[in-house]
Amino acid sequence: MTEDIKFFQTDNLEAALELLVESSGVIKPVAGGTDLMVKIREDRELLQQFAGILDITNISELQGIAQEQDFVRIGALVTHREIIESELLQEKYPALVDAARAIGSTPIRNRATIGGNVCNAAACADTLGPLVAFEAEVVLASQAGERVVPVADLVEEPYQTIIRQDELLRHFRLPLPAEGTFSSFQKIGRRQAAAITRISLVLAARVSQGKVEHIKIVPGSAIPVPEPLTALEKRIKGQKIGEIDSRELSALAGEEMVKITGERWSTPYKKPALTTLVRRALVELKEVAENE
Ligand SMILES: Cc1cc2nc3c(=O)[nH]c(=O)nc-3n(C[C@H](O)[C@H](O)[C@H](O)COP(=O)(O)OP(=O)(O)OC[C@H]3O[C@@H](n4cnc5c(N)ncnc54)[C@H](O)[C@@H]3O)c2cc1C
Repeated sequence: MTEDIKFFQTDNLEAALELLVESSGVIKPVAGGTDLMVKIREDRELLQQFAGILDITNISELQGIAQEQDFVRIGALVTHREIIESELLQEKYPALVDAARAIGSTPIRNRATIGGNVCNAAACADTLGPLVAFEAEVVLASQAGERVVPVADLVEEPYQTIIRQDELLRHFRLPLPAEGTFSSFQKIGRRQAAAITRISLVLAARVSQGKVEHIKIVPGSAIPVPEPLTALEKRIKGQKIGEIDSRELSALAGEEMVKITGERWSTPYKKPALTTLVRRALVELKEVAENE
């Protein structure tokens, strides 16, 4: 670190928010540090952009998982390990738990937070897809008050969100899924390997009286920002579960991906990979629905 970088720590949310506006330059919040500190280690010049670093890990308002009326609140500081261990999340949002399980290694999952994963906004951030599929919102806090934004509207481009410098991500709000909602998280590849080998998919669906009543299909890494494959969802919604042709529909996923991204150097890998993941998720959905 450079000599003039200041390091702040507080357990008080108001004091943290005050610091973000009072300062003469950018104060960068840090949670687990598994993205930020790695980036700084790789490029020390980054530090020139910040007047200081603010450790937010002791702020209690940013912690914890709880059910509140018709939604579940997940604090920004909740670690991937806490997500995996939460019985509430296992029951309501299994695809989010599976995504957290797929992240890095045990030491990373013990330290890294869901808030950091989302604020860093990598195209391959594993929790973004499930949060979009479950129609989660974020609560952003600043001295001016709070604002609520759907996770689907948070990321403008990879590594770029709409979160302002004077704001902290306080918590996520996930609507309680309707009874019988199925969800599945699929992933190919590991971060340490070449970026081209990483791709993931979340499917959340509800089948009622043999028909698909609700469906969300959100790829990770295949497209720059997490968004549902709405054309594919439209094709599947209302279909009888027994008549779903997984092979044909999964091919449409690959085509929709290319419509969003255009042909790229990675398309020859990503298109069939996404097709495979969608096919697997649809087969799983059919099996579960037909056995109920
Ligand atoms: C070896 C290794 C393997 C990894 N594997 C995976 C993987 O498989 N999948 C995956 O998705 N990620 C992976 N990651 C990336 C990383 O661990 C995750 O993105 C993690 O969740 C980041 O959380 P953090 O608390 O460490 O974030 P930090 O590094 O503390 O912060 C990340 C960014 O978010 C901002 N920020 C953090 N909290 C807040 C807040 N409350 N409000 C506003 N801004 C905030 C910070 O300013 C910073 O810009 C890996 C990282 C490493 C080093």
